[in-house]
Amino acid sequence: MLSKYETVIGLEVHVQLTTATKIFCGCSTRFGAPPNSQTCPVCLALPGALPVLNGKAVDFAILAGLATHCRIAPRSIFARKNYFYPDLPKGYQISQYELPICEHGHLDISLEGGATKRIGITRIHMEEDAGKSMHGETPETSASSFVDLNRAGTPLLEIVSEPDMRSPEEAIAYLKKLHQIVVYLGVCDGNLEQGSFRCDANVSVRPRGQEAFGTRAEIKNINSFRFIKQAIEYEVERQIELVENGEKVVQETRLFDPATGVTRSMRGKEDAHDYRYFPDPDLVPLVVDEAWIARMREQMPELPEARRARFVRDYGIPEYDAEVLTAERALADYYDACVKLHGGGKVCANWVMGEVIRGLNEQGIGIAECPVRPQMLAGMLQRIDDGTISGKIAKTVFDEMWRSGRDADTIIAEKGLKQVTDTGAIEAIIDEILAANPGQVEEYRAGKEKVFGFFVGQVMKASKGKANPAAVNDLLKKKLAGG
Ligand SMILES: [Zn+2]
Repeated sequence: MLSKYETVIGLEVHVQLTTATKIFCGCSTRFGAPPNSQTCPVCLALPGALPVLNGKAVDFAILAGLATHCRIAPRSIFARKNYFYPDLPKGYQISQYELPICEHGHLDISLEGGATKRIGITRIHMEEDAGKSMHGETPETSASSFVDLNRAGTPLLEIVSEPDMRSPEEAIAYLKKLHQIVVYLGVCDGNLEQGSFRCDANVSVRPRGQEAFGTRAEIKNINSFRFIKQAIEYEVERQIELVENGEKVVQETRLFDPATGVTRSMRGKEDAHDYRYFPDPDLVPLVVDEAWIARMREQMPELPEARRARFVRDYGIPEYDAEVLTAERALADYYDACVKLHGGGKVCANWVMGEVIRGLNEQGIGIAECPVRPQMLAGMLQRIDDGTISGKIAKTVFDEMWRSGRDADTIIAEKGLKQVTDTGAIEAIIDEILAANPGQVEEYRAGKEKVFGFFVGQVMKASKGKANPAAVNDLLKKKLAGG
């Protein structure tokens, strides 16, 4: 059934910017403050209050545009999008319509099997967020509904793709890539649950080979990658069934319900003319000159693709490791710092991808909260290099660093974990072990060489893992041969 039809997906992503203040006033954008505590005449929509554009929000829009290969418009216009909703006291949202700040961009996504596909980005425009309708969420209003306008005026970018995706997998690949980029840029915290990165999906189906698009449904405000996939899959099936039964797909806005996995109709989909867009007379056109764009180009951090390539080239690690280590900017920064301090690209990669990531996953924390800082990990690796500790003891030291937050040298000294390289001390242990196991000594001398491993194990155990393994090997061979 699926093969008879082709799925067509376009995505609109709302990215909440990390500016300290709102887009048209000086109110804080901090999340989680008491209702209506971060408001002023502008974001409360009091008559006569005038908006003033936040330059930082423009910086961020330019950065996002450059990172997605868009053309930055020298002149763009803020428009009023008129509609009524309780959380929108002005009766209109300030957005950009005819002349957005960025246009004609693209992102290349990786598909299974290593192929890449280019997804067009139609436009990126700036707009303000609305407030929130609350239902009994403060003590004094536990039985009533009210509007919280703390979020009203929070700056957003709306990033609109071309309808270039042909499967839920492609949609997810695009979203993950976009998410990674805005977080790397530092323009968005990327928090899906708190709504900092939310997605509307336009989904339609058409018989394979047909050029005209089918009628699309828009699925609103999906806030996890998993739900986006489920929502699209459900929607595709629903639309195919309608078409197969000779019915029509209606252009409408639908909501996805994560509990049931289905989408349901919310309202008929508006067309742009329903919003009566017109240029906002309170805001002058936004003019971005070449110097501004050049300044932002200079501030552009190294993006994931470039960083991955550099890790492979300069640090000599495999492609796979580079992929894992650049998945998140903070993780890549952490690894980068470790290598700069220690020098060993591969050994640092092994520890970060092994012990560090495992510890983070176990405790459900992010790399920013990792108790073992890069200088601590690098310091410990130096103690392996200079023979102070063995690789085996290093795991104990690492766990202790993680638990206590103290550095490797302190822990090694305090716990007496220094590797024993003194041959006299090791010889004494070996003599004891050989004396205690005459039977195995006989076996070894009779040619049963695998008993050697038994002796190594006994010596290491007796030294509590601190004996230098190379010295143990040498001395054991000598003793066993010498008799
Ligand atoms: Zn305000």
